[in-house]
Amino acid sequence: MQSVNPHSQQQIATYAPYDDAKIEQLISAADSTFHDWRTTSFAARAALMRVAANVLRQRQTELAALMASEMGKVLKDGVAEIGKCADCCDFYADNAEKFLANQPIATDAADSYIACDPLGVVLAVMPWNFPFWQVFRFAAPALMAGNVGLLKHASNACGCALAIQDVFMQAGFPAGAFTTLLVEGTRVEPIIRHRLVRAVTLTGSTPAGKSVAGIAGSELKKSVLELGGSDAYIVLQDADLGLAVQTCVKSRLINGGQSCIAAKRFIVVRSVQEEFTRRYVEQFRNVRFGDPTDPESDIGPMARADLRDQIHDQVCRSVAQGAQLLIGGAVPDQPGSYYPPTVLGGVRPGMVAFEEEIFGPVASIIEADDEADAIALANQSEFGLGSAVFTSDKSKADRIARQIDAGSVFVNALVKSDVRLPFGGVKHSGYGRELSWFGIQEFVNIKTVYHA
Ligand code: NDP
Repeated sequence: MQSVNPHSQQQIATYAPYDDAKIEQLISAADSTFHDWRTTSFAARAALMRVAANVLRQRQTELAALMASEMGKVLKDGVAEIGKCADCCDFYADNAEKFLANQPIATDAADSYIACDPLGVVLAVMPWNFPFWQVFRFAAPALMAGNVGLLKHASNACGCALAIQDVFMQAGFPAGAFTTLLVEGTRVEPIIRHRLVRAVTLTGSTPAGKSVAGIAGSELKKSVLELGGSDAYIVLQDADLGLAVQTCVKSRLINGGQSCIAAKRFIVVRSVQEEFTRRYVEQFRNVRFGDPTDPESDIGPMARADLRDQIHDQVCRSVAQGAQLLIGGAVPDQPGSYYPPTVLGGVRPGMVAFEEEIFGPVASIIEADDEADAIALANQSEFGLGSAVFTSDKSKADRIARQIDAGSVFVNALVKSDVRLPFGGVKHSGYGRELSWFGIQEFVNIKTVYHA
């Protein structure tokens, strides 16, 4: 398994995938740790989780540099990502006991209540785009609930995968509480089927999600899926256009456009479409892409050359279908897997840019007749992760929010994950929720206890 720096395209490390015997031994070790770990108090787990938060904060710069070298994230974003992971650890250290407390329920019993018990060994299959955040938002609640975690990280992020295990070890978690398995995606199936693995969560593409969910389903194991998105941002006539343009630009460029909740389809009502597009392109013109370790860079390279090529192919196919290339759209003549900020105008249903997720700095502008048409276009997608509405009318925004098929609707703001709020999608964006109290309840046995 190789780590290739997407800026220099130099190989920076190679890792030998674990063989079957080693994987078997690590799963068994995780399961034996689970039997002790589940008996520890919330206070004991919280104490370790707070140390993990501090370890992250102490190693913030080093870990941001690791992300920059393995997947091209600009340093300031990497520093912010590690800070967010630390906050997530603190949040679940503070709240897990409350979220999972026994709930007395009045019935005909002398005493009846709901208890939340851990499930056991939970496998997390994770992507390279937020190599720490995606993992910590699974690991902090799962471990606080008394589960133990196995991480199968993206093959191009092995350095991050080992660093995460190291953070938990440095914090003093028992060996086996959190274990990285260096293994390719093609070898995940027997791990999901392993009798000691009780559940699986995956963040990544829809095809990977379908495969993992299919295997988990055939074993009757719980799965949570956080998949792709093609988030629609609706801009109405009464929107603050300056705010809308600025927010839409910012959201499309999160992590160089490689975010499941980055805005992807901008659905703008006809009366303001031209002005929105003019201002949007203007702002994209000023975006600086380059070396992720250069503080002047707004966005870095795409994480891998094949992913960059895939984005370019999607842009070319969209243009061939009639989309207008307003800026960008040409692979720069320089080393590194760079793709320029690109805007496509005149995008319509049926075009690649409307139907597929474009995982890079490519904005698709779609004109809507009116509010009703905008809502219909937003929902005309196989995805349903996040969405946003720009309007100055709060009650209109609330009404529209309830009509959009997505896991979240943000009003006059960009979609972001917040540890206090549930995160996840509908349709091909997946199922289940991460974060908030919903996230910690995904991997527990919700148990009824009844005393006659
Ligand atoms: P993948 O979905 O292929 O990879 C994500 C993770 O899943 C990796 O750990 C990968 O392992 C693993 N994986 C892939 N296929 C399987 C499988 N059949 N069974 C078990 N595990 C599997 O993403 P890519 O890196 O190939 O990116 C492709 C596209 O996916 C992007 O362009 C984007 O559209 C979407 N994506 C969405 C993300 C999100 O946040 N929702 C994150 C990343 C990608 P390995 O690396 O070893 O193949």
